[in-house]
Amino acid sequence: MGGLRKEPTAKRGKPEHMHDHYDIAVVGGGLAGSVAALSAASEGWSVAFIAPPPPRQDGRTTALLSESIDLLAHLGVWEAVKPASAPLRTMRILDGTKRLLRAPPVSFHSSEIDLDAFGYNIPNQPLFDVLQAEISQSARIDRFGSPLVDADQTAERVNLRLADGPQVTALAALAADGRGSKLRDAIGITIKTWSYPQSALVMNFSHRLGHAGTSTEFHTEQGPFTQVPLPGNRSSLIWSVKPEDVDAILALSREALNAAVETRMHSILGAVEVEGAVQAWPLSSLIAESFGRGRTLLVGETGHAFPPIGAQGLNLGLRDIMQAIGSIRDAGGPQQAPEAVRDFNRQRRLDVTTRTAGVDLLNRALLSSSLPMQALRAGGLAALSAVPPLKLLAMREGMTPGWRKIVNRQVCGSAGKQIGR
Ligand SMILES: Cc1cc2nc3c(=O)[nH]c(=O)nc-3n(C[C@H](O)[C@H](O)[C@H](O)COP(=O)(O)OP(=O)(O)OC[C@H]3O[C@@H](n4cnc5c(N)ncnc54)[C@H](O)[C@@H]3O)c2cc1C
Repeated sequence: MGGLRKEPTAKRGKPEHMHDHYDIAVVGGGLAGSVAALSAASEGWSVAFIAPPPPRQDGRTTALLSESIDLLAHLGVWEAVKPASAPLRTMRILDGTKRLLRAPPVSFHSSEIDLDAFGYNIPNQPLFDVLQAEISQSARIDRFGSPLVDADQTAERVNLRLADGPQVTALAALAADGRGSKLRDAIGITIKTWSYPQSALVMNFSHRLGHAGTSTEFHTEQGPFTQVPLPGNRSSLIWSVKPEDVDAILALSREALNAAVETRMHSILGAVEVEGAVQAWPLSSLIAESFGRGRTLLVGETGHAFPPIGAQGLNLGLRDIMQAIGSIRDAGGPQQAPEAVRDFNRQRRLDVTTRTAGVDLLNRALLSSSLPMQALRAGGLAALSAVPPLKLLAMREGMTPGWRKIVNRQVCGSAGKQIGR
């Protein structure tokens, strides 16, 4: 399969073996777009993958829950990233605020819902690299390294114009070009956006004590400070800070940074040593007014984005992809894209709006000094820790919305396996 393919470059334009017309065009080559391209190819569809190289190495890690891992397994990439990943067996929330109303600690154990692990924490860069290697091996995917500049749709197809000249057409398009999506704008889907006085600092660190597969999310007045396990005595960290504090923290000496992290971790993992570079990611939210139009479906952060609380963002994006592929297949294939778009819009609304609203409410409750908001947050977490059926429901819904299991079975088929086996 792989030997037939040449890597196209933006400068040289379209290599001779590439076509102009495809079953599916995937615009955007981040994690969502890469998974979308492989998922579409796995259905036997020809795919134009419009994916300029990313602007920087991605130092983040992503906690992917079991149905997302099933999808990676189905696409044949999970075994290659598993060694760099660590299972998530316990997710713990500790109130690190100094507020009047503080929440009790809450721990969620995967064993309570009969799973070996909720999922895995995966470093983004190795996952991205493995996805690119798999894409370059696929005879059904042609990669275009030049960005989309404009697009329009007719009743029969989507027309996509690229920066270096070529026009690509497809029966259906998956817009995965992120928050500032050109394709979403070109087809006239508007978005609602809002921002928070927060940036996320991300880094990896080693620690003296073992983490036992536990992720601890400290709720602080600036937002969550979340440690997530990596293989060995190592973890990743997402540290929400005020944007004006970013530069001062980045300028700390390594010793001072190590001490700051250990203090905020309340030394639960002993002494820590930060590894490599620290990256800052601004935090904001968006939701699209619809998740598809005509022959185009929005997947990943093109349709929704929110702060990294409770490991939801990419998991939600991968559920978009599973639903998009299922809707197109059930409609009769890419030729029937308008019908698939209507189904996709209906199926995705509840999951996307409830997750976006839930994360927004929790984040605002953390940042707010108002007593009613504090009471809401503390009361909600107290109820979770005191009422076992509520906690079980929260864990199951946090993993997979009930209705999703059907689509997951459809897309992953028998390749879907329970985590940790
Ligand atoms: C600090 C942090 C931690 C997170 N942790 C988690 C977690 O633990 N679990 C979880 O589920 N989620 C997590 N998330 C969310 C997750 O990282 C995102 O949902 C995910 O990375 C979004 O991927 P995407 O492919 O949709 O978007 P992007 O990564 O933004 O990709 C969009 C792509 O489109 C390309 N593009 C842009 N314009 C064009 C154009 N005109 N033509 C062609 N291509 C274009 C870009 O170059 C880019 O490659 C976290 C987010 C942050 C900020």
